[in-house]
Amino acid sequence: MPVTVRSPAKINLGMSVGSRTLDGYHDVATVYQAISLYDEIKARDTGDGEFTVKVTGEGADVVPLDENNLAVRAARLLAKTCDVDAGVALSIHKTIAVAGGLAGGSTDAAGALIACDALWGTGAGRDDLLELAGQLGSDVSFCLGGGLAIGTDRGNILSPVLARGGYEWVLAYADTGLSTASVYDELDHLRVNDEVGVPEVPGPLLAALRSGDPYAVGPALHNDLAPAALRLKPSLRRTLELGDEYGALGSLVTGSGPTCIFLASDDDHALDLAVALSSSGLCRSVQRAHGPVTGARVVT
Ligand code: ATP
Repeated sequence: MPVTVRSPAKINLGMSVGSRTLDGYHDVATVYQAISLYDEIKARDTGDGEFTVKVTGEGADVVPLDENNLAVRAARLLAKTCDVDAGVALSIHKTIAVAGGLAGGSTDAAGALIACDALWGTGAGRDDLLELAGQLGSDVSFCLGGGLAIGTDRGNILSPVLARGGYEWVLAYADTGLSTASVYDELDHLRVNDEVGVPEVPGPLLAALRSGDPYAVGPALHNDLAPAALRLKPSLRRTLELGDEYGALGSLVTGSGPTCIFLASDDDHALDLAVALSSSGLCRSVQRAHGPVTGARVVT
């Protein structure tokens, strides 16, 4: 029987970025929230030992169909680690914008781990899957569990956040994506003369999340990468301003961008914001989502 998994997008409510380390990466301290935008990953046994992937939906034409597809990499890694002598045919239906700072590829990898684990009955435990996720990419570990969590190191060392409440979000997509690597390069360039400290999640954001009050969370949203994303895509500034004009409790570029997120006070407000952003002509498309939601889960 094929296995289908739904795997969520993430947004970053706080993103603090340290300086570049010797291996070329940056340590971060981030607060992730999984939101109700899902890619669907289906895994089917083919019996021929091949690993293949088909992709449909949002941005499918720019997703690699070879070994560079993160879901294929995840399936291969699981098979190798668990000595599974089988291939898999993966089909991904994307709702999450590609290169949008929403961890679309990472969540497909998390979904593929869960789907192939169920298909093959590997017996791998949660900790084993987390370990593999950490090898696949910074955000994959978070996408497995979802919810709300602090990520440190590259984002893959997770710890829980004491928090309550649910949040209504509006997401505005730019006409083209931003490469994560170019945004980090731009950040280094902008900070070339600055002393960069150890990344830390801002205390006011954690206090606001403990309160569960969106009016406190909105102004506490923070992203060190935002100035770099804005520099590479100055048009995002106008999108953020529009959200402010329509009373967003917080407006922010999420992750490495270019997706902008807006926190609404309730369902009606989210609808107003979504309509204003859609009709502005400033963004390619607008979606609504709520969070936190759980991570990658089998749905069949
Ligand atoms: P992040 O926020 O994790 O840095 P992102 O959300 O900005 O990433 P992705 O949607 O993951 O960006 O896409 C980044 C690149 O990853 C794409 O340009 C694409 O070439 C590659 N990629 C590999 N596998 C996938 C996949 N399954 N879905 C989307 N992109 C993929």
